[in-house]
Amino acid sequence: MNIVESKKIWLSSPHMGGTEQQYVKEAFDTNWVAPLGPNVDGFENDIANYLGEGTHVAALSSGTASLHLGLQLLGVSTGDEVLCQSMTFAASANPITYLGATPVFIDSEFLTWNICPEQLEIAIKDRIAKGKKPKAIVAVHLYGMPYQVTAIHDIATRYEIPVLEDSAESLGSTYKGVNCGTFGDISILSFNGNKIITTSGGGALVSKTEAYRNKAIFLATQARDNAPHYEHTEIGHNYRMSNILAGIGRGQMEVLDKHVSLRRRNYEFYQQHLLECSDLQLQQAPEGYFSNRWLSCIETQSFTQREAIRAALAAENIESRPLWKPMHLQPVFADCDAYLNGVSNDLFERGLCLPSGSNLEEEDLFRITSIIKKIVG
Ligand SMILES: *Cc1c(COP(=O)(O)O)cnc(C)c1O
Repeated sequence: MNIVESKKIWLSSPHMGGTEQQYVKEAFDTNWVAPLGPNVDGFENDIANYLGEGTHVAALSSGTASLHLGLQLLGVSTGDEVLCQSMTFAASANPITYLGATPVFIDSEFLTWNICPEQLEIAIKDRIAKGKKPKAIVAVHLYGMPYQVTAIHDIATRYEIPVLEDSAESLGSTYKGVNCGTFGDISILSFNGNKIITTSGGGALVSKTEAYRNKAIFLATQARDNAPHYEHTEIGHNYRMSNILAGIGRGQMEVLDKHVSLRRRNYEFYQQHLLECSDLQLQQAPEGYFSNRWLSCIETQSFTQREAIRAALAAENIESRPLWKPMHLQPVFADCDAYLNGVSNDLFERGLCLPSGSNLEEEDLFRITSIIKKIVG
């Protein structure tokens, strides 16, 4: 009997490039262990240079903190409504409630799995008719696939509602050649441990409007006014990224493009090796959409088939995960209004995220696909 457990394969685990420790060591050597310092400036510059489009970047403690500040900067406050993509991670929606505002959820479309332009416009018209114009739109590039940027921003512009672009999963993705993270009035990134690059925990607020960046840093550092003593005219947060973690980020920026190509290699491997499984369909990229393939996702035929694949992988010590459970199905948001077309319910039932780390070996990928093929045939 073989009692040796097969090697654990994670859905998406941290992948260091090699130079991270140098930046961290430099911070120690120069005693820049305090919150701010040269690594924070350097990391912000690296991101701004990478994204281009005249962006300004504030490095913060998490993607969630960045969403919170982003909504605050867009003027969201008590009693407001914010339209939010329903199919996403809870962190896209939770900060709306931190501000005393209410999320109103919008379903997805099948092309990109992201916020549906038709449902968005129906919702905007309906909320206005009911007497309350939504204060902002939270749109998400799920799994690295850009949302329908042109359609969504056309609607937002027409109704003069700002867009908070949740680009937590899409650093390195582009829409018509332009980087995700540059489309929103304010955009956010995440450097959590499972993202395409990580600082072990961190995020960033991005905007072409420099005033937003400056105000974000002001609010993220306890809203301290310009005075020799501590003077406050606003409520602040402690949301800035530390100089140590920014050092990890600087090292990770050096390998971002490599991580994108490795994750895309995973996707292409799955595409090629699961081709014979006609029951399965990998998430497709429409013309003009370049996904970083943060996670490679499949649509199965049914909930039962999805669960059979997930269980078979788990039995072999391989982590996979159903797609994000839509927010309108979450108990905590049961009372919120939602504009639905059935798409996200269906994707949630049948969809599965496959292991997608940039540190996967080819033999890992072979192990994964051979198990799936045994189940699906
Ligand atoms: C990870 C993630 C966030 C939150 O980022 P943290 O850095 O973990 O706070 C927000 N939105 C989406 C879509 C995410 O995947």
